[in-house]
Amino acid sequence: MRDAALVLFSSGQDSATCLAWALERYLRVETIGFDYGQRHAVELAQRGVLLDAMAGLKPLWRERLGADQVVDLSGYGALAESALTADRAIALAADGVPTTFVPGRNLVFLAVAAAYAYRRGIGVLVGGMCEADYSGYPDCRRAALDAMQQALSLGLAAETAIETPLMRLTKAQTWTLAHDLGGDALVSAIVEHSHTCYLGDRTHRHEWGYGCGTCPACMLRESGWRAWRQSQLRSS
Ligand code: ZN
Repeated sequence: MRDAALVLFSSGQDSATCLAWALERYLRVETIGFDYGQRHAVELAQRGVLLDAMAGLKPLWRERLGADQVVDLSGYGALAESALTADRAIALAADGVPTTFVPGRNLVFLAVAAAYAYRRGIGVLVGGMCEADYSGYPDCRRAALDAMQQALSLGLAAETAIETPLMRLTKAQTWTLAHDLGGDALVSAIVEHSHTCYLGDRTHRHEWGYGCGTCPACMLRESGWRAWRQSQLRSS
């Protein structure tokens, strides 16, 4: 069914923007998240808060937003252990791939999401993968996703599309997209309720949201926010 979409929703800024994008386009939108033993359950705790806040922004969104499913992939997390799931330092490995890289994470998530979508009669998967701010994650590249889309369609014997609305956007442009989709109210909801910080910090509140302010995820979020605010000021 091409009128329904399943959004890979982690409660981060990117997946919240993807959810808004899907809610504008599809008659039925469901969400799926993965518990793969993240060090901080805060990401999972925020998903319900953010889903509720977004459903409250537009009657159409509330009408279209359907079930949310969290899948326990802690066994995979243990297998693919890296800085996100263990206590290793967050740093670049010698080969330039960040140690926050969980090998093949997006491919595993997509395969699980596709199986669930198949059962739910959904033929479109939506994910926040992005290669513009390409940060060393090879399974975020569109070429890998094109191959995955083909493998899923053949393997399920059902056409399965992988939509990646953020693929060519910078972090600043992702804020622009969120603003285009849901105005200041959506931007505020994402700032307040989405979670990005690798350290799970929700005690320090910045202009761009909660986080430690120093981990790579916080730094990327902050620089994207600043670039977007500057572009807004220039165009006003
Ligand atoms: Zn942080």
